[in-house]
Amino acid sequence: MAKSALWAPAPKQKVTFVVREGPGWTVSLDSEGDADCPICGTRSSSRHGAYIRSLQDLPAQGAPVVIQARVTRWRCLNDQCERRTFAERRLDLTAPFARRTTRMAGIVRLFGHAAGGRPSERLLARLGMPIGHTTILRHVKRGARGGPATLRVAGIDDWAWKKGMTYGTIIVDLERRQVVDVLADRSAASTAEWLRVHPEVEMVSRDRAGLYADGARQGAPQARQIADRFHLLQNFREAVERQLGGLGPPVRRKPPSLANDDFDPMMAVTGEQPRMSGAEREILTRQGRAADRQALFDRIRALYDADLTIRDIARELGLGLRRVQRWVRLIELPARNVMAPKPSTPAYYGAYLARRWAEGVTAVKGLLVEISRRGYTGSHSHLARFLAPWRKAIPAITMTPANSSSPPETEVTIPPRVAALDPMTGRRISSLTAAALCVKPRGTMTPRQIVNVDLLKAASEEFTTMRGLAMRFAGLLRGGDIRKLDIWLRDARHCGLHAMRSFVRKLRQDIDAVRNAILEPWSNGQVEGQINRLKMLKRAMYGRASVELLRARMMPLDCGFHRE
Ligand SMILES: [Zn+2]
Repeated sequence: MAKSALWAPAPKQKVTFVVREGPGWTVSLDSEGDADCPICGTRSSSRHGAYIRSLQDLPAQGAPVVIQARVTRWRCLNDQCERRTFAERRLDLTAPFARRTTRMAGIVRLFGHAAGGRPSERLLARLGMPIGHTTILRHVKRGARGGPATLRVAGIDDWAWKKGMTYGTIIVDLERRQVVDVLADRSAASTAEWLRVHPEVEMVSRDRAGLYADGARQGAPQARQIADRFHLLQNFREAVERQLGGLGPPVRRKPPSLANDDFDPMMAVTGEQPRMSGAEREILTRQGRAADRQALFDRIRALYDADLTIRDIARELGLGLRRVQRWVRLIELPARNVMAPKPSTPAYYGAYLARRWAEGVTAVKGLLVEISRRGYTGSHSHLARFLAPWRKAIPAITMTPANSSSPPETEVTIPPRVAALDPMTGRRISSLTAAALCVKPRGTMTPRQIVNVDLLKAASEEFTTMRGLAMRFAGLLRGGDIRKLDIWLRDARHCGLHAMRSFVRKLRQDIDAVRNAILEPWSNGQVEGQINRLKMLKRAMYGRASVELLRARMMPLDCGFHRE
C-alpha cells in the first residue's frame, strides 16, 4: 500500500492512493490544485464541488486497474465571465462520458478489430482487462471512421452476404490498398448515393455487371470508368465455354464473308435445313444434351460462387451430393493437374499418337514401335487400352468427311472426336476445361495441359481461332497498345464464331471502360483479396455479424491510441 506515487496516468493528475482490493488495483486520482476556465481562460483554484468517476485502465502486474478519479467543479473567478462554475476535463485521460481510459479503449479496439468480440473477451480477461464482448464490438464500431479523406481511385465489387440471396458492396481505395466502405446491398442506387458524397473520385474500377457502371454514371459522372481486367478475361473465358459447350449455336465451317451479325445460327438447329441425315440428327441431339449439362453446370457454379454449401446446392437442384462434389471440384480447379504423364504411359505421347492416328496409322503394333523409339517404356496392352476409345470414335469421324467442296487443308487435321479426348483419361475434354485452357498462357501450363491444348487445337478450328484471340486479348490487357484493340475487335467480330461476336458486341457497349482497362494500371485484383478477408470474417462470426460490424472490422483501424 502506498500513499502517493510519482507516476500518474495523465499530466496534471496526481495519484493520492493505491490499494490492492480483491482481484485488482484501485488507484485514486485527483487533479492538481487549479484549472483554467474553458470560456475565459482564467485560472481558478476555488473548488465548488466534486464527484468520483470510475475508469477502467490498463492492468498492472496482470491485475485489473480501476481509476477512481475525483472530478472537481471549479468556480470561475472572473466576474465578467458568463460561466459561474465549470467542470474540469481530462481529455488526455479519457473521453467525456467514457468508462475506460483512452489508452484502454485503444487496446480494446485493437483486439476487437483483429480477433472479434468473444475471442477478445477471453484474451482480455486473461490479460487483466475484463470486458464484455458486446462492449468490445461497440468499441470496434465506434473506431471505424470514414475512409481516407481523399479517394481518387475506387475499386467496387460485390460480395455474397446471404448465400445466393443477397449481396453487399465493397469499396476499396486502390491507391492505398484499403477498404473504404462496405455497403449492405448491391444496387446502382446505393452505389450512386455513396459516390455522390465523394466527388473527389476520379476513377472507378468495376466489373462488367451493368449495375456498378450505372451507379458510377449517376453518382460520379466526373469519374472515368475502368472495366476490370480480371472480369474481362473471365467474360471471355465464359464466351469460349459457351461456344465449345454447344450452348451457342453450332457454327459450321463457314466462309467469313457470310458471317454477319444478322445471321441467326439457331436456324441451323431449328430444322431449317431441308435434309438431315440420321448422323447429323444424332449430333444435334448430343449437342442438346451437352447444352443441358452445361446449363446445369453453370447453375451449380453460380450457386457455388454465391457461397452455397455443397449440401445446399444438392438440395436446391435435387442432385446427389457426390455429383455436386465432383462438379464443384471442377469449378475450383478447372485445370488441375493431378499428375503429368510419365514416359512410361502412352499419354506422354498423346500428341504424337494423335497425329499419327490422323495420318491413318492405327495399328497398335506399329505405333508401339514408333513411340518405343521415342522412349516409351510401357507395355503393348497399356497402349492398346489407351487407343481403344479412339478406335470406338472412328465411326463418328467418318461421319464428317473432309468434303471435297471445302478448301483444301494444308496442315494435318486430327478428327475432332479423337483429338478432343484427354489422353490421360480417355474421356472427352469438357468445354469448361477447354475454355480454361484456351485462355491460359503456355508458359504457365503443365506438360499435360500443353498436350491437351495441342490436341484441342488440332481437333477444333473454333478452339484454335479462340486461342489466338485469347492470347492477343490477354496481351492487350497486360499493357497495352490501345490501337491494337480496334484491330482485335474487328478480327474477333469476323472470326465467324457466334460467342465471339456477341462478346465483341458487349465490349462495344462498354468500350470506354474497356479502353481504360488497357490504358490505366488499376484493376480490382486487390478487391478480390479484400472480399476473401471479408468472407473469412463473416464465417468467423458465425453469421451473426451485422454489416456495420463487418464494415468496422474490414476498414483500417483508426484509433487515437497509436497515432501519437
Ligand atoms: Zn471563466
